[in-house]
Amino acid sequence: MEGKIFDIKRFALNDGPGIRTTVFFKGCPLKCSWCHNPESISTKIEEFEQVRELGGQRFSSIQTIGKIISSDSLLSELSKDEQFFQQSEGGITFSGGEPMLQVEFLSDIITKCKNKNYNVVIDTAGFCKQADFDHILDQVDLFLYDIKIIDEKKHMDYTGVSNSVVLRNLEFILDKGANVIIRVPIIPDINNEDQDLKLLEEYLIDKKDRIREIHFLPFHNAAESKYKRFNKDYDLNGIKSQNPQELIDIKERFESKGFNVMIGGL
Ligand code: SF4
Repeated sequence: MEGKIFDIKRFALNDGPGIRTTVFFKGCPLKCSWCHNPESISTKIEEFEQVRELGGQRFSSIQTIGKIISSDSLLSELSKDEQFFQQSEGGITFSGGEPMLQVEFLSDIITKCKNKNYNVVIDTAGFCKQADFDHILDQVDLFLYDIKIIDEKKHMDYTGVSNSVVLRNLEFILDKGANVIIRVPIIPDINNEDQDLKLLEEYLIDKKDRIREIHFLPFHNAAESKYKRFNKDYDLNGIKSQNPQELIDIKERFESKGFNVMIGGL
């Protein structure tokens, strides 16, 4: 079976336990204002002109984002890192974009990874059919599950979709006993107000014992240059990264309610 990816990152330390190889799937049904991977959103293979000036001369080249790959070829790429997985108790993380958007391909490659005993993590925004989660649930060691904003209208304004599907799917996989870490990107002036955090706390509190951890991900504006490079509009131009103390305060707030909390990824 074939799927569409746009990158493979080796030696990843923030995408799950141990040393991991992260596969970035192409295509995402959301369009978050703060997205750090704008080149991941379109499901199409895209070409961008990259221009560099050197010694007064202008050089241009075409960068292609995305490629079709078979699950066998992908597995043989991933197998190259097997010794790192074994030594560090790491494995493979499927991210994006949204890996659940290509669930048949995802399921195929997960099955192949599990046949080799690799640890499998899915990094998802949760916007897909419930049946898609049901399809892969038994083979996934850990979900990194994004909750971005609880207020539905605000969620639509900043991601382009309602969060009702996302929240329903989270409840579904928790009910099925999935191993879940919640990831919340904290974005200045979008979801970092007291009311946003209060809604998040209220939503998660009765799920506390079934959620392994909450990870609050700090915002940084490194994506700004990427948007320029890929000729895409960036809604958050000029927004400053937050004061680290803000994340510490949020961490302490949720810890005081009994959650296990981290700042950043694993
Ligand atoms: S869900 Fe992730 S990949 Fe998709 S648009 Fe949002 S930040 Fe980008």
